[in-house]
Amino acid sequence: ETFKVELDTPVYKGSVSCNTGLFINGKFVDAVEGGTIDVINPSTGKLLTKVAAATSKDVDIAVAAAKKAYKTSWGLKVPGAQRGELLMKLATLLEANIDEFAALECLNVGKPWSESRGFDMKLTLQTLKYYAGWADKVHGHTIEKLAYTRHEPYGVVGQIVPWNYPLTMVSWKIGPALATGNVVVLKPSEITPLTALKFASLVQEAGFPPGVVNIIPGYGATAGAAISMHPDIRKIAFTGSTLTGRKIQEASAKSNLKVVTLELGGKSPNIIFDDADLDQAVKWAAIGIFSNSGQVCTAGSRIYVQEGVYDAFIKAFSEAAAGLNTKTGDPFSEGTIHGPVVSQTQFDRVMSHIDAAKAEGAIPFIGGERHSLTEGFFVKPTIFTNCTPDMKIVQEEVFGPVAAVVKFKTEDEVIEMANDTNYGLACAVFTENVSRAVRVSNALEAGMAWVNCNITTEYNVPFGGYKQSGYGRELGAYAIDTYTQVKAVHINV
Ligand code: NAD
Repeated sequence: ETFKVELDTPVYKGSVSCNTGLFINGKFVDAVEGGTIDVINPSTGKLLTKVAAATSKDVDIAVAAAKKAYKTSWGLKVPGAQRGELLMKLATLLEANIDEFAALECLNVGKPWSESRGFDMKLTLQTLKYYAGWADKVHGHTIEKLAYTRHEPYGVVGQIVPWNYPLTMVSWKIGPALATGNVVVLKPSEITPLTALKFASLVQEAGFPPGVVNIIPGYGATAGAAISMHPDIRKIAFTGSTLTGRKIQEASAKSNLKVVTLELGGKSPNIIFDDADLDQAVKWAAIGIFSNSGQVCTAGSRIYVQEGVYDAFIKAFSEAAAGLNTKTGDPFSEGTIHGPVVSQTQFDRVMSHIDAAKAEGAIPFIGGERHSLTEGFFVKPTIFTNCTPDMKIVQEEVFGPVAAVVKFKTEDEVIEMANDTNYGLACAVFTENVSRAVRVSNALEAGMAWVNCNITTEYNVPFGGYKQSGYGRELGAYAIDTYTQVKAVHINV
């Protein structure tokens, strides 16, 4: 079965297609129990296609195939250079088809072309190439008289990813796992499986041994739970909500104590001091909360503004939001920079956060309602002012284009407010005073800090959280460590 459409749009002309089966042991197959998932276009609310839905039976088959591949044709059997060559081939194939991948992501996620092609696909490709380069550079150390260490793969790794950056998340997961010799069973989000399935065809074409990469769409409660409980999976890499992360850790404890790394939610503070370059602060604050319609785990959703620039900031920031509102709509229009949220469920979730904020007394300075477009899941870029630290809109992750603005007086006070959260993914500091920039970014409890920029993500810089935003790091050399275990070999000389 395949999904195929012809597109004739201002930014992309041509066909877009992908297989709709489960990719197991090098082939596309139907799910054993025959279930399917409806895949919806969030810009229209209409059905795009159906894909196979894996259950625990398919997970068992995929894990068995992966385990066999690990023993016979991957892992310690294959030199790093060879793994690297295959990964580089995969990257080259992606590069040759990158516009089609970008278009498929636009259809399935509603992302504007400028984001899908300009950000997601670029980072995906960089990540694959970067880890292709790592494959022959993973080695241990020698410790005198005589011991040495080996950095060995875990074996079968389960990878569970969300819907906000579907293909990019696949590259963050698969790149370091394969470079280090692991084999993978990856479950895309049930909401956005299409680019992962298309990527599976490239895995086939690149010539990876069957079973090294298995990609199986399925629901969290069935396929996801089966992966996290599976006794032959040695590590799980998960990106998604804190609630699900907790379940995965519990499943690990109940099954075989598989190693778990978690990239979870956030409520990242942006702090704008009186001495900031205001134009820059406004620009970056808007990028921080409105990119990908706010469906970014590092979104700058709490904005603390010092009293001296508060009024000027709100004025300019709301103008930026109003501008985005006029550029909302069809992902394939050249001028679109703001898309829908991903699903009806997500739309309802965002609207209920908006309603709760109004009920708490926060003021919807701009937005705070559905966009006037009649179809699709579009929310107006929204800014709440008069927020106080205890409000839900300041404490809970919305995962939509909704900013909560809080006024502050002093540096000490804002550090305390910014750290008053269960999350610890990221933060951003805007000031022209370099000492303050360093002092404040050091004082904030977060895995990533941005100074005079926001949500900047580079393939070679570690990405991950503190506190209930998770643990373990993706990207850069740090991810290599999370996909290897260290063996110490002692030799009696
Ligand atoms: P989610 O936790 O509902 O789903 C994520 C994935 O987990 C999906 O593939 C889903 O099918 C699966 N899943 C759901 N229940 C499961 C279970 N019981 N066992 C195993 N797997 C299960 O999250 P979402 O709604 O898809 O994504 C949004 C959330 O992800 C937000 O909270 C966001 O902050 C977070 N996120 C974090 C990062 C990061 O890197 N820190 C990146 C993107 C998204």
